Amino acid sequence: MNHIRSYWKNFIGGEWVDGADGGRIAVSDPATAEPIAEVARAVPADVDRAVAAARRCFENRALAAMRPSERGDLISRLADKLGERVEEIATIECLDNGKTLAAGRAEVALTQRYLRYYGGMADKLEGRQIPLGEGLLDYTIHAPFGVSAQIVPWNGPLPVGARSVACALITGNTVVLKSPEDSPLSLFLFAEACEQVGVPPGAVNIICGYGHDAGAALAAHRDIDHIVFTGSVETGKSVLRAAAERVIPCVMELGGKSAGIVYEDADLEQAAGSAARGIFHHAGQICSAGSRLIVHRSVHDDFVARFKAEAAARSVGPGSEGCDMGPLISAKQLERVEALCRAGLDEGATLAAGGSRLADRPGHFMKPTIFTDVRPRMRIAQEEFFGPVAVVIPFDTPEEAVAIANGTDYGLAAGVYTRSLRLAHWTADRLVAGQVYVNEWWAGGVETPFGGTKRSGYGREKGQEALLGYVQTKNVGIRL
Ligand code: NAD
Repeated sequence: MNHIRSYWKNFIGGEWVDGADGGRIAVSDPATAEPIAEVARAVPADVDRAVAAARRCFENRALAAMRPSERGDLISRLADKLGERVEEIATIECLDNGKTLAAGRAEVALTQRYLRYYGGMADKLEGRQIPLGEGLLDYTIHAPFGVSAQIVPWNGPLPVGARSVACALITGNTVVLKSPEDSPLSLFLFAEACEQVGVPPGAVNIICGYGHDAGAALAAHRDIDHIVFTGSVETGKSVLRAAAERVIPCVMELGGKSAGIVYEDADLEQAAGSAARGIFHHAGQICSAGSRLIVHRSVHDDFVARFKAEAAARSVGPGSEGCDMGPLISAKQLERVEALCRAGLDEGATLAAGGSRLADRPGHFMKPTIFTDVRPRMRIAQEEFFGPVAVVIPFDTPEEAVAIANGTDYGLAAGVYTRSLRLAHWTADRLVAGQVYVNEWWAGGVETPFGGTKRSGYGREKGQEALLGYVQTKNVGIRL
């Protein structure tokens, strides 16, 4: 299955280029820890070149000259192009990202949905006419910022990257996107699609480099106008400091420690299945994973038994072998997750399932893990694992459940399991989170605005709201 290209170049100004200093980054398969390919390593000189290409394209008005509907068609054609390469992309997602093949295919379908959704919105972002009385005409324009710098994490580079690029292009911005050094390959196929459908040269530039080097240089570049950052809170803060120097706007999609509340009237079988998908999908490496389960004391043991059965039913191993749950992205990430598990045991939590790596094979595989006897202030209940680890915390009253759910620095997603619509709404109203799922983790999708509160960030991706993060209102007042 490993028939992928051995070396990939950066895509700048419509050309495929080596790194300015000839450096390369080795990409390895997290399921084997073996190298699979190399990519050109972008350094600050490459960032300069990419930003200059994006600036030229913005200034020559290649996008502005197109009708919005034409920009939308272009984005929709990107979806068609990706559709011609589903198996290739799924294989790449499997090899450089550790996804299962089914998840890799689903990533392509999701990306196509984003592209078609935003392609279809290109001609629907309308301004306002503001009445000022006779002799005056006043209207608003959704003006692009200019060059949008986009920094993408490794867990879902294709859909996360493509949705931001789509929003930027249909609103008339040009893009420099830094792909994640751990899993950069699928975004190069996206760059190829951009080339094939005729995206104007320089409108989309995709480079791969290390975060502290190319990422930091991009965020601090004097000639970018806008930043979309998806990644960890700590990196997000450094990006914001760089943005503050030049007072440019940011969309920040950061981490999470999202909680699902299981009330005593919930359908426990359904809740356990949904909760298990919420934390074990992609081995928990999803910002909105449901990593805390807050369970009414009267159904706690019953729920935990069903949740454990869900964990036990999942096979762990390479996606290429058809396993249900793949590896973590790197040895470093696996060590982090295991270390936090050890901290949980030290603090007195009980391991109900998993807790360690798969010792009998190479690759970075972590067992599906469940902790019980967890208190809300324990580190395992506060810190993001970004791995397949759930903690279960009992509660007695709805007020207590909500206080526990809201009791972290994060506020990305939250969930409620109940048969009572009144209780669902009461709870959704009080949860501090950008998205609330009732009776199905990840209820919603491409159409539903997604983003953080508190340290999980601000701004929204997905849905119509996302477009508002890529434009600034310009008012034109005319004395006739
Ligand atoms: P990370 O912050 O380490 O890296 C994210 C990106 O930032 C990478 O491309 C990296 O190269 C780059 N980067 C690193 N240091 C940088 C610097 N100093 N300046 C500029 N760029 C830099 O995060 P990660 O470990 O790759 O991803 C996991 C984190 O991302 C988790 O916290 C997760 O919750 C979060 N995440 C959030 C969302 C969301 O939509 N809210 C989605 C996916 C992941």
